[in-house]
Amino acid sequence: MPELPEVETERWRLETRIEGRRIGSALIADERLTRPEDPAWVAARLAGERVVAVERRGKYLLMRLEGGEVLVVHLRMTGSFRYEPASHERAVLELDDGTRIVYRDLRRFGTWVLLEPEEAEEYLAIRLGPEPLGRGFTAGFLAGRLDGRRAPVKAAILDQRTVAGLGNIYADEALWYARVHPLRPAGRLTGAEIVALRNGIRSALRRGIRRQGADLGDGTYSGGRMQHEFRVYGRTGESCDRCGTPIEKTRAGGRGTWYCPHCQV
Ligand SMILES: [Zn+2]
Repeated sequence: MPELPEVETERWRLETRIEGRRIGSALIADERLTRPEDPAWVAARLAGERVVAVERRGKYLLMRLEGGEVLVVHLRMTGSFRYEPASHERAVLELDDGTRIVYRDLRRFGTWVLLEPEEAEEYLAIRLGPEPLGRGFTAGFLAGRLDGRRAPVKAAILDQRTVAGLGNIYADEALWYARVHPLRPAGRLTGAEIVALRNGIRSALRRGIRRQGADLGDGTYSGGRMQHEFRVYGRTGESCDRCGTPIEKTRAGGRGTWYCPHCQV
């Protein structure tokens, strides 16, 4: 499932091809993608529009159109944009320069929502906390979100209103950087641990962006190199890069969770 670094890489790849270009024609072949709107209605609104910007908020991609509307795309489990014919094509945008942009989605959980700018703001504001790499993501904000919560800290930081864009992989990596055990009750972290966690989240995400995300070899997201540099994710039995202790696997919030039993306390 693409997380912030993978979505940011998709944003960048999309931006280089579509920003400033006009959508010549749009075909949306999957009614689930735009539900409850009629896909033909959404396609008709996209056709003829120039894309003025491609932005990202959390795991959402935002295509801002010259006419003012915003196409809010969520890739969910298996959505991705491709620039050559692909299997499981759910939508195709043909640009005025002949570029063909394919939206592929094997499991069909992805969504395309076309909104007015104010609606888009509100749509995102109720779902997402501040950008973890932006100024608003302070230790104070994080402390307020974790305060009084008994849930494991791993589960708490997967809440998109706490850390927009964080998912299972980078949450594990962030907790390793912060030296915090994933099953610690969220409300029991000390002030120093919250600062370390905030910094760990940013380190993990920045590293993921630099490596263009993680390609897990399942065909859903490709081209990244982060999978070669995981500190804990998926590394059961391998040595911790910091202390040499074998990495262990547990579950937190229903998700497979990896950590070092020695240096994460
Ligand atoms: Zn360790």
